[in-house]
Amino acid sequence: MEKNLDHLTSEEVETLMQRYYAGESVSKLTKEYGISVRSSDLYKLFPPEAFANYICEYCDEPLVINRPSKTMKNLPKYERDLYCPVCGHKPFQTHCNCENCQEEERNLQMERLQQIEEVYSKPQTPVDFASLSFENKVFLGAICRALLKENLYEIAPFSNSEVILTPTDILRKKLYSSLIHNQVIAVSPQSTLDAFDIDSEDFPNTFYIYRVTYFLNLIFPANKKDLFTEILDPSYYCTENADEAVILWKEIAVAECIEYLQYQLDKVNFEFTPGEKTYKTFDIILNDFSVSQIYGIIWRAVADASKLYLEKGISKKHAANSVIGACERYAERAKINGWDLTQYNRIKDLPQSELSLFYFNRVLGIGEMGFRVPPTIV
Ligand SMILES: [Zn+2]
Ligand SMILES: [Zn+2]
Repeated sequence: MEKNLDHLTSEEVETLMQRYYAGESVSKLTKEYGISVRSSDLYKLFPPEAFANYICEYCDEPLVINRPSKTMKNLPKYERDLYCPVCGHKPFQTHCNCENCQEEERNLQMERLQQIEEVYSKPQTPVDFASLSFENKVFLGAICRALLKENLYEIAPFSNSEVILTPTDILRKKLYSSLIHNQVIAVSPQSTLDAFDIDSEDFPNTFYIYRVTYFLNLIFPANKKDLFTEILDPSYYCTENADEAVILWKEIAVAECIEYLQYQLDKVNFEFTPGEKTYKTFDIILNDFSVSQIYGIIWRAVADASKLYLEKGISKKHAANSVIGACERYAERAKINGWDLTQYNRIKDLPQSELSLFYFNRVLGIGEMGFRVPPTIV
């Protein structure tokens, strides 16, 4: 007794198949042909059916479909079941995983990496750190502090880094855009493929700003370390950039207020997208109060809105929108009456961002004052 059909001639196999599909007893057939197989598995030993009008693009062989069991013999056949008997290629499947397709995919990847290498290896004019604006120096310091690689040259991708670079996404986008636009950082030709949109017609010219690796496009002095000391532990803050410094302090402070507002609103399930008015409101309140005091103002306003929503039945949207106005009015009253507002602490769920830490500790050297004092010239 054989476990396959190798002992039969092709004519015998053909006859066996005809008799099987005609409905003859399978146990009788297996006995007669000397095959040792479970009756229900006999059809699996049959050679697949070849379709001469479908040819494997790699092997030039006709594609085949496995034989059905006799109960399935009248069902329609589908192109997706066609495969190459030599390499296993399945041209009608969305993602064929045969050796040839894998090889083709690898070649395509190599080609794409070469394109990236080509486009991003073009020489760029490096910029002088000393010529950067105050803000860009700070942005660069923050990003280097958080994501500079050991080689003191490349900036690791922000994606998957778990770094808290800025209090808000909007400020992070501004930081990156500003550094890219001023060519302080440039896309590294060593960036990984997933940092680019491979389906884009413009490939590889469009890239995901948080997924690419950057390199520092700076003029490096003979002693590279000196430049990094100035970037990471700077001494460039002076009275000449005092005005820019307050503006940046305020920008970080507004972002920290918005971050806290968003956090408190999320906790009570109020949906809210901060717009121009929200920014402007915090910008004004920060003339008189510190972020730590505004934390208190926000906390109270959200608690009141939540109470209104629960007790008076106003809509969630209305309640959320009332928060900013409440913050504004409360801050006005506190100012006019000279109230000494409570200082709130930072909270565990909102760790201080790298930008904030770097700016207050390293650039201005004022530490916690950045949080506890309204933005002012130091
Ligand atoms: Zn093939
Ligand atoms: Zn394939």
